[in-house]
Amino acid sequence: MAVGKNAHHHYQKDFSMKLPGRTCIVTGGASGIGRAAALALAAEGAQVTVSDLNRRGGEETVAMIAEKGGTAIFVECNVAVEDDARQLIQSTVDEYGKVDVLFNNAGINPMEGSVVDVSLEDWRRVFAVNVDGIFFCSRFAIPEMRKAGGGRIINTASPASFKGWPGNSAYIASKGAVMSLTRSMAMDFAKENIHVNALVPGLILTGIGRDFLAAQPDSEAAAAGNPVGRAGDPGEVAPVVVYLAQEDCSFSTGAPFYVDGGELSGSA
Ligand code: NAD
Repeated sequence: MAVGKNAHHHYQKDFSMKLPGRTCIVTGGASGIGRAAALALAAEGAQVTVSDLNRRGGEETVAMIAEKGGTAIFVECNVAVEDDARQLIQSTVDEYGKVDVLFNNAGINPMEGSVVDVSLEDWRRVFAVNVDGIFFCSRFAIPEMRKAGGGRIINTASPASFKGWPGNSAYIASKGAVMSLTRSMAMDFAKENIHVNALVPGLILTGIGRDFLAAQPDSEAAAAGNPVGRAGDPGEVAPVVVYLAQEDCSFSTGAPFYVDGGELSGSA
């Protein structure tokens, strides 16, 4: 490989990259899992739209990608707002001409309490972001994927999609809905080469992960409470997103992909 001042440029054109020229949208790309995934997708040659409510963090992700010679733009978008979602897809098409991959990753977990304790406002807000957000973004992205001859959608689910725990009623219900919606979308578009899978991160040290730990009676025990014995890093999740974004991911749809330190396979 060439070295020198154009090394990054040559690296971008390297034929061994997994996602050359593939257009990927990442929601919640300002931090955590979304940022790590945006960086990993760009490192494989994808042209990335980083999207978030948080402009500062999102622009920082774009700068990190640009610094490494990758291609990215930032589009501010509240996924819970239909017009924002429409604009996110439109801006991506305006910039890159197509949409191949949508990573529906934006989410919130306000540790809202049981159904007795949660405010109606929090209940609705959690569903608006975690569920409506996927509905809106997918609704506008899928017609573009059809034009491109196919696509890949990755929805960030959670262990909460498969099990419960105390004090997190709206979040757990919303992530159950994320998994169900993943299955239903997979069935609707399987014949059109649009594959829809779920990423299932276990406890990952991000904003959401740290807030979750802080709310546990024994944070240290909770962090070590899976078979691997530690919380994960966003960088350990990103390679799975890269896999699910590829055209080569051609025979999986409607499936959960666990990256959870063994959490869902048993107890520690
Ligand atoms: P994070 O807080 O670092 O990232 C979430 C991002 O989503 C933030 O940048 C935030 O600004 C953005 N966001 C929030 N509401 C938004 C909205 N309405 N529109 C657009 N962007 C919005 O946390 P994270 O852990 O990286 O979270 C990413 C996803 O992973 C979430 O869906 C979360 O539920 C899921 N998840 C996280 C864990 C964990 O332990 N960290 C475990 C399972 C699932």
